[in-house]
Amino acid sequence: MTDCLFCRIAAGELPADIVYQDDDVVAFRDLHPQAPHHILVIPRRHVATVNDFAAEDAELIGKLVLTARDIAGQLGLAEDGYRMNLNTNEKAGQTVFHVHLHLLAGREFGWPPG
Ligand code: 5GP
Ligand code: ZN
Repeated sequence: MTDCLFCRIAAGELPADIVYQDDDVVAFRDLHPQAPHHILVIPRRHVATVNDFAAEDAELIGKLVLTARDIAGQLGLAEDGYRMNLNTNEKAGQTVFHVHLHLLAGREFGWPPG
């Protein structure tokens, strides 16, 4: 038993609206969506922040991005546009310390982000 929320979702111990999963990654809808489509893509393995990735994780990091890209495509959002976000540590807005890539789509996004 772990006290990490996203490890528990990945293990199926807590419910989530899962849109994709395989041996390496799990993607599920955010509980408090900030856009019409707001999906989190996480590595199954616990990694607290992007700072904790090793060079050997390059393939896994690529898979997070490609999984989000493919989900956007399957939802018909590729042409309309979408945003990916990796918040790292408190000042950047990270509140759950298991790496998660935000996939946001379905509205316009400002730049620079607030
Ligand atoms: P962060 O602020 O760390 O970048 O993003 C954490 C995200 O996780 C937030 O968007 C928040 O709404 C989402 N979240 C927090 N708890 C849960 C939960 O139990 N289930 C799901 N599906 N999302 C969660
Ligand atoms: Zn975890």
